[in-house]
Order: sequence, then structure tokens, then C-alpha cells
Amino acid sequence: MNQPNDGAPAPVIVARADHPLSRSMISTSALKVLYQLKDAGYQAFLVGGCVRDIVIGMEPKDFDVATNASPEEVRRLFRSCRLIGRRFRLAHVRFGHQIVEVATFRAAGDPIEPDADDTDDEPAEEPPSDDRVHDDDTGRLLRDNRYGTVDQDVWRRDFTCNALYYNIEDFSIWDYVGGVADVKSRTLRLIGDPETRYREDPVRMLRAIRFQAKLGFSIHEGTREPIARLASLLEQIPPARLLDEFQKLFLAGFGQRSFELLMEHGLLEQLFPATAAWLAEEPDGMAARLIRAGLANTDRRVLEDRPVTPMFLFAVLLFGPISAAAQKRFETGSQAGQAIAEAADQVVAEQNRRIGIPKRFSIPMREMLALQPRFHRREGRRALAFISHPRFRAAYDFLVLRAESGSEDPAVARWWTEIQELPQEEQQKRVGADDGPSGQPAGAGRRRRRRGGRRRSAPTPES
Ligand code: ATP
Ligand code: MG
Repeated sequence: MNQPNDGAPAPVIVARADHPLSRSMISTSALKVLYQLKDAGYQAFLVGGCVRDIVIGMEPKDFDVATNASPEEVRRLFRSCRLIGRRFRLAHVRFGHQIVEVATFRAAGDPIEPDADDTDDEPAEEPPSDDRVHDDDTGRLLRDNRYGTVDQDVWRRDFTCNALYYNIEDFSIWDYVGGVADVKSRTLRLIGDPETRYREDPVRMLRAIRFQAKLGFSIHEGTREPIARLASLLEQIPPARLLDEFQKLFLAGFGQRSFELLMEHGLLEQLFPATAAWLAEEPDGMAARLIRAGLANTDRRVLEDRPVTPMFLFAVLLFGPISAAAQKRFETGSQAGQAIAEAADQVVAEQNRRIGIPKRFSIPMREMLALQPRFHRREGRRALAFISHPRFRAAYDFLVLRAESGSEDPAVARWWTEIQELPQEEQQKRVGADDGPSGQPAGAGRRRRRRGGRRRSAPTPES
């Protein structure tokens, strides 16, 4: 870091009377952790997003504590505490469902989040002796294992707004990096030399976008400028860590904004190369409209506290490339649903090199997409049976999106909306499945004819 650790600069200390953070805004669990550390003679600060969010009047998502107690010392202090992380150990203190993350101050340098593959279940190893390892070629920080003091810890943080320390000792805020002023002017600014910080951890580029989208801050020129230039550094990041970041960008209620900003900064092609290529050719086509409608829809659900799933989002984001690949297979004779399923596999396999899509998302996504042609069958018992298919709901929601964005006839979506609201008898009449005298469903004959017409039923992108 470009900041010396000896002769470290003193923080500006903002007294309790001069900032808006009051204890009533801090979760009781986090307060317990802070007080218990303090009572045991340690320093204890709230730090990171929670301080920032409270200062700007948002409700924090979680509370992070920083302390000079070592992970072992933290573990001994709390009954329900486990150590996680391989590269760097963190303590998770549990109170019922709530977890307070407690990190020991780190010496000079950089942080990096726990490895994406760290889990709660993994016992932490003893840290190797003090060391920090950079990759010689890329400058990326590979290992950082030193504990330090608060005035060393601050320099490893990413943005100035994330480096405010709330001291439980006297309720003051310690600001080493001008974070208070940046929060006031709603500016996102990397601590230190931006290019060096992005090279150390390219995920910081995605974090910049995320905070811009979430907080409505603007990115300071020096912090913004290198992003487009360094975007390809994200190729070094493991797909599992990118999946984490993807979820934070797209499943927290500001996905549409995140998407626009990723495009603007040239980062979408790092996360979704096939989608970005598709959008470059047809910036206002069906796929673009579907993405925008799908993200808006997801954001709305998040704000209404309704469940959202990454599988639906992956379908929305990959629909352009998948339907193009499906169309090719369809034209060479595959049945529509089969063509889509195979196309989904092909596109997901490519996509997995960037963001790893777990099978628990990719399998239902493929199924939901492959069901789309079935909406064209609106006669006979099988049409009705579709409504009780376990994946019907998701497939129907996707159909509605497609209709909204021009990849499906709105009359088809309307028909399925209406039929779900009818009493059972009416439903049967509607599909012609009220039994005739022979017991033969009235729709049977017509169903046969539709097969010849299935060419129309492949969901194809508008060209
Ligand atoms: P939110 O919780 O709203 O997503 P946050 O700022 O708390 O935002 P976290 O990912 O929870 O973000 O990280 C907590 C803190 O750890 C950050 O505020 C920052 O100080 C530090 N941090 C996290 N990731 C990095 C990183 N990649 N590089 C440097 N510092 C980081
Ligand atoms: Mg946080």
C-alpha cells in the first residue's frame, strides 16, 4: 500500500455529537459483541457498509466488527462462535439467526474477502507465519495473513466510504481517509492508487458498480477511469466468486441499475460474454427488452419481499443467446422443446467459464425454457394438465415477460392468464376437453393438426 505503517497518520475523530450514528440503529447482537470485546479490554469498532449505510440513512444489511483481539481470543469470548476462512480467518458470532462478523485488524495491505469456497463448515487452519504474497505479473494479492492495528487495517479497505470506524469506547467515528466528506458528497473513491487497488483485487471494479447502483453515489474520476481499461482482469477471478458478486448485484433490489452500469463501464462482457455480444448487435431488440423487463420485475419483487431466484435471472440474461442457438437446432429438425434444452446446455457451458451457474439453477432454468413451446398447445387435456406441472408457475411468469418484450404473441399470455382464473368446468370447456359421448376429448382431432404448425412455436428472437 502506498501508506506507511510506521508513523501512520492519525485519524480525524468525529465526536458523537457531530455524527448521526446512534446506538439505537445498531442491532442488539452487534452491540453485544462490541461491548463484550470492550469489557474484555479490547478495541472494538463497527466498520464497513453498516457505518456508511447508517450515516446516509439506509438500513444496514449486516454488521461487521473490527477488533485487535485475535480470532482465537474472539472465539474464547463468545459461546457461539466459529472461525471461518482459509486465507484469512474471521470469527462468526451467532445470536439465533443473526451472525455478526468479527475481523481482527490486518496489517499493511489488502484484504481480499474470504475465498469464495470458504464455508461455515470448514474448520480454519492455523495461519502460516506472517506473509503477504503478490503475483509478480499481475500484482494481484494472493495471500495476506498478518494481523495489525486499526491504523494499519484502514488501508486494506476498498472505498473511503467503507473505511469509517465507529468506536464503541466513546461512540466517535474515526476517519483516516476522508470518508465522511465522501459520504456527504456521495462520492465513491478508492483508497490509494486506483489501478494498484484494482490489480490487487479486480472484483473491486464490480464492487464500485454495485455501490454506485445501490447507494446512488457517483464514482470519482480517478476511480472510474481505469475500469474499462482493466476490465479483462476479471478473467482471473474464480467463477464461484463471480457468482457471489452476481447475486449481490442482481438480487438486492437494484439489478436493473446494476445492469445499465455494467454495460456503461464495459464490464457486462466480462460477466456475460454471449449476452454482451448479442446486445452489441441488437441494443434495442427483443433480448434487451426482455432483460430490462425481467430485471425491473425482479427488483420489484425484492422490494415487496417476495421470493426471487437466480435461475429466473439467468434465463432472462441468457435468453438472447439461447434462443439464437435453439433456432439453429430447430431449423435442422429438432423438436422445439428439445432444441431449446440443448441450446441452454450449450450456452450454460460457455457461461460457466465466467460465472459458475450451479446445477440447482441451470437445470430448472433449462426446463422452464424448454416448456415455453407448450404454451402454444391450448387444446385438449394436456393443455390443462400443464397448469399443474411443477414448473408451470415459473414458465408462465417467463411467458408473460416474453409477451411484454415482443418475443411472444400477447394473446397467448393472455389466454393462459385467463384460464388459470376460471373454475375447473369452464377450463375444460375452454380447451375442448369436456368429455363428448364417446369419452373422447373433443380437442383430440385438432391437437393432431397443431403438430404440423409447431414451427411457429419456437421462441425465436426478433430479427
Ligand atoms: P454491503 O454489506 O452493503 O454489501 P459492505 O461495504 O459492508 O457492503 P462487504 O462485502 O460486507 O461490503 O464488506 C465489508 C467491508 O470489508 C467493506 O466495507 C470494505 O471495507 C471491506 N471489503 C470487502 N471486500 C473488499 C475488497 N474486495 N477489497 C477491499 N476491502 C473490502
Ligand atoms: Mg457488509
